[in-house]
Amino acid sequence: MTTLNETHDASLRSWVASANAEDGDFPIQNLPFGVFRRRHGGDAWRIGVAIGDRVLDLPAVARTGTAVGAAVASSLGDVEAPTLNALMAAGPTAWSDLRLALSRALRSGAPEEGDLVACLHAQADVEHAVPARIGDYTDFYASVHHATNLGRLFRPDAPLLPNYKWVPIGYHGRSSTIGTSGESFHRPRGQTMPPGANVPVFGASERLDYEFEVGIFIGTGNDAPIPIDEADRHVFGLCLLNDWSARDIQAWEYQPLGPFLAKNFATTISPWVVTTEALAPFRVAWQRPDSDPRPLPYLDAPVVWDEGAFDIQLEAGLCTPRSESAMRLSRTSFRHAYWTIGQMVAHHTVNGCRLAPGDLFGSGTASGPTETEAGALIELVEGGRKPLTLANGEVRTFLEDGDTVVLKAWCEKAGARRIGFGECRGTILAAR
Ligand code: CA
Repeated sequence: MTTLNETHDASLRSWVASANAEDGDFPIQNLPFGVFRRRHGGDAWRIGVAIGDRVLDLPAVARTGTAVGAAVASSLGDVEAPTLNALMAAGPTAWSDLRLALSRALRSGAPEEGDLVACLHAQADVEHAVPARIGDYTDFYASVHHATNLGRLFRPDAPLLPNYKWVPIGYHGRSSTIGTSGESFHRPRGQTMPPGANVPVFGASERLDYEFEVGIFIGTGNDAPIPIDEADRHVFGLCLLNDWSARDIQAWEYQPLGPFLAKNFATTISPWVVTTEALAPFRVAWQRPDSDPRPLPYLDAPVVWDEGAFDIQLEAGLCTPRSESAMRLSRTSFRHAYWTIGQMVAHHTVNGCRLAPGDLFGSGTASGPTETEAGALIELVEGGRKPLTLANGEVRTFLEDGDTVVLKAWCEKAGARRIGFGECRGTILAAR
């Protein structure tokens, strides 16, 4: 069972004043990790922790000679590292020790304030890199609502394939085109088969979509299959992930081996990795209908049912060239996922497959049960039949050049401090 500790205490406040804002994403109870550098100044990429509207510069903390500096040095190994991989490899005890040291040093009244205040940068002044060297990227398909909605469009006669409720479905993606929030990319070109045609055409995708997913960073790797009741200990933390998808390319290419060029032109993730320890207060029971099969034993354990799901609020918005403020597309919770993160880890490794620190999973589009909870346009517009009218009167079936998709997520409940993920934002440029 996950245990809460003093770092989760909802009454904790920080000497970093902006961290105490009620609706902020980064209070002292969160402490997510990322890789940053100042936008101007020519300095190196390095590891930081978000606190309020600041970034705590961990190499700078290590140089202070304080107890928290020693904790940083011991957890990170190479404190100047430009990725989180070594920290991810260090394991859950090291992650927890570092979180505790940071929490104590950032609390109101902490004697470290005088040393650490010089280690802060304004988030507005920094830029981010992908937080880990991602060796492998796997995209799952863990929302039964998404799988059913999409299946209905692609295969009206058999929307949900017979393996879905037994196997956590996934495919191996590519890490080479994973970028961070704020990126822009060109609309992909490729082969499509227009409706009613006999011969495919080549050109810019006309059905460009987003997929709102939760990104899952693996911490410690494995040589042997990871048992289901140990799987959570291999997960370092979560981020937001947009699996951009060209639906017209996908429809023509996906059989028989699954997604290929419809997906690997761009994947955008949020810069901050929220640790599973920070998310502990927001674990909830995992549910599946009584009429559905019980998971096979290697995917089943009390911990799965007791606290396998995470209640993370997910909200997607769209900015267009005519609207700089994001207009809501959908809102749901990650608690509706049909498979838990632990089940994804156990399933991925059950055949002997190795995971490594920094490997990334996508959860699959996190659609909820109702039509306003869909995590992709193709579901919201019912395959294109029902265009969506935005708050400013503009209409969309799929994404247009100049559009920016903004993903946000947060957790809140009575008795716990609200924590957030920040933003995952990406913009579409014209095809080249
Ligand atoms: Ca996906």
